[in-house]
Amino acid sequence: MSTVTDAQRMEKIVSLCKRRGLIFQSSEIYGGLNGLWDYGPLGVELKRNLKNYWWRVMVHERDDVVGLDGSILMNRAVWKASGHEDTFSDPMVDCRSCKARLRADQLIDKGKGRQCPNCGGKDLTEPRAFNLMFKTYVGATEDESSVTYLRPETAQAIFVQFKNVLEVSRKKLPFGIAQIGKAFRNEINPRNFTFRSREFEQMELEYFCRAEEGMKLLEYWKDERLKFYENIGIARDKLHVLTVPDEERAFYSKGTYDIEYDFPFGRQELEGVAYRTDYDLSQHQKASGKSLEYFDEETKQKFIPHVVEPSAGVDRTVLALICEAYSEDQAPDEKGKMETRLVLRFHPRIAPIKCAVFPLLKNKEQLVAKAKEIVDLLRPQMFVFYDESGAIGRRYRRQDEIGTPFGITVDFETLGEKDSTLRDTVTLRERDSMKQERVAIKDLPDILVSRIR
Ligand code: ATP
Repeated sequence: MSTVTDAQRMEKIVSLCKRRGLIFQSSEIYGGLNGLWDYGPLGVELKRNLKNYWWRVMVHERDDVVGLDGSILMNRAVWKASGHEDTFSDPMVDCRSCKARLRADQLIDKGKGRQCPNCGGKDLTEPRAFNLMFKTYVGATEDESSVTYLRPETAQAIFVQFKNVLEVSRKKLPFGIAQIGKAFRNEINPRNFTFRSREFEQMELEYFCRAEEGMKLLEYWKDERLKFYENIGIARDKLHVLTVPDEERAFYSKGTYDIEYDFPFGRQELEGVAYRTDYDLSQHQKASGKSLEYFDEETKQKFIPHVVEPSAGVDRTVLALICEAYSEDQAPDEKGKMETRLVLRFHPRIAPIKCAVFPLLKNKEQLVAKAKEIVDLLRPQMFVFYDESGAIGRRYRRQDEIGTPFGITVDFETLGEKDSTLRDTVTLRERDSMKQERVAIKDLPDILVSRIR
């Protein structure tokens, strides 16, 4: 049984992320900036694979969803109508003893009144609303007339473009508009690595429907989204569905689920799936004076569609993928002695690098040439990494640590020197089982593509 605590596990994950170029602190050489992160060479691949897979299943593999890429800055009127300018806030409390700024729900209460989680102090201010939107000015004058905000969610662009998209796509209800993009929230207390950041990405779908379909579609999308997480390698028993109770739900929502994941730092939200009724479109219709109604050709009725919204966080999902993949096992080293092996067991579909190609020896020209030929053969289909330095066992370990699911080794048998039937075959090693099979070079593209799709 492992004696590693969850906190130690999290520490190891954070340090692996930095050491192997998954995630760095933003502006690190200047001491960083709280709640902001950069994705390194491998992190960017992981993130991209996640977003591409989401887009594939939510847009490309469906007839009823189209995409949008809206701007980050929008007319301030959008944020007034959506309610964000007045109400998108968290209750903030200051600790007068240690000067910490805290979210009111982060205070601890052990039955002796509210205490600061940092210093235990009880001298706290009353909670006051702190708006989470970043304010900025558009144009050369910095006055009230030029104020707007960095968007705190991507969804509003979908609502305000509803009519345009409906006209050009000629979709009939129910249908959806999907978007992936950056969102910004001036979180009072960013924490748990990238889990709560001030700049992050969302993957959102607004699925428009008739009022009578709303509750059924809420169930449908909750189930679809659970399948999605399983399909990227997150174990079902680590996923939980929280039915958000009436008193915590937005007043316009008729039903909301949070899909949660068991992170090492606790069970936390990955995605919200909410039935938002016709609130958003109604608000924008009212405020803009432009009709956002749908005309039903069969019944000849005009009405404002209702909407079900699955809203997922890219960064939180990437973090869940890394936490889920992180594992240590025992494997023999070059001399057959058992050692601890660090492996990221990513699903091949989201692994940053799909396949590494190794010539057995770097000073044998024919081996190197063959290995490079294989790299060229595979590159149009997947991200391949070539590595010729160090003992082959070390090269495997370096790839295990970043979750590369397949390793290909070009050896003397590939050259057909001893046994001509093995000419142009290689060993294909699978990361988790470490099993090796002998396969023909010409079959590699098909074999690998079928395993990483
Ligand atoms: P929380 O309660 O954790 O602040 P929320 O309920 O406010 O989250 P939503 O407004 O429903 O979150 O946003 C949808 C999704 O966007 C979340 O499920 C999450 O994946 C992501 N998200 C929201 N805020 C952040 C953040 N500060 N950092 C990273 N991801 C975020």
